[in-house]
This record gives sequence, C-alpha cells and structure tokens, in this order.
Amino acid sequence: MHVTQQRLLLVHAHPDDESSQSVATMARYLDQGAHVTLVTCTLGELGEIMLPEWSHFSPAELGAHRQVELESALDVVGVTDHLFLGGPGRYHDSGMTSDDTGRAAVPDEMPDNAFWRADLLEAANHLVEVIRSRRPQVAITYDPFGNYGHPDHIQAHRTLMYAVQLASSPSHRPDLGAPWQVSRVLWNTHNTSKWAEAYAIARERGLELWPGVDEDAATERFGPDPSQIVAVVETSPWLEKCRAALGAHRSQVNLEHPFWQFYSIMQELPGAGEAYLLGSGQPFPPGDGPATDVFEGIDFSEAT
Ligand SMILES: [Zn+2]
Repeated sequence: MHVTQQRLLLVHAHPDDESSQSVATMARYLDQGAHVTLVTCTLGELGEIMLPEWSHFSPAELGAHRQVELESALDVVGVTDHLFLGGPGRYHDSGMTSDDTGRAAVPDEMPDNAFWRADLLEAANHLVEVIRSRRPQVAITYDPFGNYGHPDHIQAHRTLMYAVQLASSPSHRPDLGAPWQVSRVLWNTHNTSKWAEAYAIARERGLELWPGVDEDAATERFGPDPSQIVAVVETSPWLEKCRAALGAHRSQVNLEHPFWQFYSIMQELPGAGEAYLLGSGQPFPPGDGPATDVFEGIDFSEAT
C-alpha cells in the first residue's frame, strides 16, 4: 500500500514564535516521520532585548543574532526545512506599540521594508512557491488578530490565507509550480482552560505576571471559548525539547521571568498542549472534544 507522507507547513512572524507556539507540534510530527516546513517572515530585528549585554545592538545586529538563535532552536527540534519569507531580511520586523488599553497596536513609524507594509500579493507569492513545492496537507499560522495583535502576526495570517487560495488556482502564476490545495488551515491559539488553570496556580505562588494590569481584564485575554478549539497537540512527550528550543532564544526569553515561569507551569499541567482553531478547509471528524492529531480525517488518497 502506498502511504502518503504527512506534510506540515508552519508560518511564523519572528524567530522565537515557532518555539513559543508550535514547538511540540513540530517535534511530534518530525518524530512520526512527517515533513515539516517552517517559514519565518522576518528576522525579528525589533524584538525587546532581554540580555543586558546585548542591549546596545542595532536592529540589524539583533536580526543577525536572532538568526543564529533560531538555528539553534531548530537544531534542538530537528527542523531542517526552514526558510525566511522571500529570503533573510526581505521583510523587516514592523515592531509593535500598545494602545491605551494595553493591547498591541501598529507603531506610527516603521522601516520601508517592514512586513506590515509588504505588498500582500508579493509576500503571498513567496509562500505560493513554498506551498506548491512542499505540498503540505495542513498549514498553521495565527488567527486573524495575530493572536494578540502584533502587526507582523496579523500579516503572517493574511499572507498564508491568501497564499493558500492562490496556490490552488491553476491560473495563478504557473511559473511558481503546479497548483496545490492545502486540505486544512489551522490557527494556533491559546489553550484557554490551561492558561486559566496555570494562572490560578501562578497567583497562589505569588508570581506577578502583569504588574499594574487589572487581573480580570488580563484573564479575558487568555484565549477563545474552549468549545472553538478543534485540536490540541500534547506537549508533555516533547517538554524537554520545547524548553530547550525556547531557551535558545536567549535575547528574547528569560526563563526565570514570571511570565515564562507561568508558561512552564502551564506546560506541565495534565493534558496541556498546543491548541488550534479551524481556519479553513476540511473540518475534523466529530468526536469528544478536540482532536489530538492535526491530520485527523484528511483524505490522503486525494491529497497526495
Ligand atoms: Zn512574534
């Protein structure tokens, strides 16, 4: 019997997003022999620098160091098929600001080649080429709000959603490869109930997560209504890899920081995992609660 290989595409905005949001998913599918492709849209040149000794870095210097951090993280997980959208440095980190309510917002100024300012067709065409050459059955990115409003996460969402449409259309840019229909697009999201459970534990332990922020308002941001979560990929079998990959992003992540301690509490909860909403394409077969496999129900005889 011919067994079709599972192929998964993930599109993330900055180095470190793959390790904070999709690392168990990448590790699991690599372990079971799937082909995993990661596309990172920017070098993360405007990330907040957590290492005091690196605080003098220019955006370009930070971008160069973050490429190295990303390589280390991907070595830990075993991802070998990694690309920067349009090549390294094609799209610059757009940066982020906060509005009056503390929500992420688009900054007033950004570089000309900021990802937020990208021509969407041009950006999508880079992904069309990736989709048509890798032929993933499942693709993963953020929800339409970029999960918490970072402009680059929103733009990554738009770019993938547009590219999935274009890649399947025979009339669109035949020079970029034969048309390919991605069977299912998933949007990564917070595992709402696990965040709430972990938050309760963190408060008991006296961790101050969001100093000065109204706690009820903060907890409203945990994530979607749990009934909307269609799939959860369990974290626990890959916990060590998850932590090592995240820790590789030293410029961005201090694992001693209260937020990452909270995150670590959450990862250890029974049933904790990376949660997904259905973005488009084939729904999961009906079942009790979220599916545990992002490929569940996909007809591989068609998606070869
Ligand atoms: Zn990001």
